[in-house]
Amino acid sequence: MDKPDHKKLGQELDLFCFSELVGSGLPLWTPKGTVIRNLLDTFVWELRQKQGYQLVDIPHITKKDLYIKSGHWDKFKDELFHIKTREDHEFALKPMNCPHHIQIFDRKPHSWREMPQRYASTTKMYRDEQTGELNGLARVRAITIDDAHVFCRQNQIKKEFSSVWDTIDTFYKTIGFQLTVRLSFHDPKQKEKYLGTPEMWKFAEDQLREIAKDKGVTAEEALGEAAFYGPKIDFTAKDSLGREWQVATIQLDINMPERFDLNCINEKGEKERLVMVHSAILGSIERSLAVLIEHFNGAFPLWLAPVQVAVLPISDKVTDYANKIAGKLTEAGIRFEVYEKNETIGKKIREAETQKIPYLVIVGAKEEENKTVTIRKRGGEDLGAMNVEDFVSKLKKEIESKSL
Ligand SMILES: [Zn+2]
Repeated sequence: MDKPDHKKLGQELDLFCFSELVGSGLPLWTPKGTVIRNLLDTFVWELRQKQGYQLVDIPHITKKDLYIKSGHWDKFKDELFHIKTREDHEFALKPMNCPHHIQIFDRKPHSWREMPQRYASTTKMYRDEQTGELNGLARVRAITIDDAHVFCRQNQIKKEFSSVWDTIDTFYKTIGFQLTVRLSFHDPKQKEKYLGTPEMWKFAEDQLREIAKDKGVTAEEALGEAAFYGPKIDFTAKDSLGREWQVATIQLDINMPERFDLNCINEKGEKERLVMVHSAILGSIERSLAVLIEHFNGAFPLWLAPVQVAVLPISDKVTDYANKIAGKLTEAGIRFEVYEKNETIGKKIREAETQKIPYLVIVGAKEEENKTVTIRKRGGEDLGAMNVEDFVSKLKKEIESKSL
């Protein structure tokens, strides 16, 4: 068997496409692909919400000045998409979201009582990657990220890291990935690559070491893998093909708060410098989808499947009954397709199998007479006849538990 390839599967299952007119590295998401993206993102958001995050929304372009202040202009100038306005102002498509979130935080003074503030946006960022480097969904120019930033005091770092860590654990356990943890630190021999003083780095990296220790995890320390503004905890997962992927990250940032002068007013009425925690659970949704499509070989678990049920009428004579079943599925919020074409049932089953639809519902005269449906699971297992209500509640249970 060929190794799963997300580009091939994406086309066969109609999940995404590219257009020459739009340009390479700019994937377009079909209705089916969009369902999966949104479900993953919603799941992340549900977990985030429980940890006290709030949604914010930001524009995709910004004045050059913001990135000069943040330091991104220097670091990413060659990868930025530049925009010249008709009044000759220089703008850029955002390559990052942190500076925007910072501007939201900094709209007013904050008391220590309001700390931490936790902002999340699922939004796109843009990198002018070279055409030769682009690869399906794995390397794109428009990247959607489930980005989040916590603005907190130094004594809140551990708790904030720990709650993001828990979210990452829950999310990837649900997907069926096993995680390993790496501490990505700066390389003291290449100081020019990083912002901030040696003391700041020592403080930040010690914090991360302690967090890993508190979690009871032995984490490898990788020098030279930090972000330019601070050290990170990176999570790597092994997929069903035994490949390792970096899937999620939590970053401690002591530099942006310095550059943007971010404070809260503490108990003594004094200004206190804050720190930032950057995190993404999915990271690039495009890259995550590339990994997940191949990991599942296109056979998504029920809760993620863009089409959960295929209704297959054996003949035209049962069209009314098939529509009645369809009505019940609509009512229950189940995603389904009715295979109405004038084809043999064998052909319909084969087609639904190639689309990797989790459940096939076969309806014929016998089912109509007994007011039942015959259920066949993806892969061929025959579940026999049952009434629609029982089938729907079975589906609901499986969806709710997000079982694999
Ligand atoms: Zn950030």
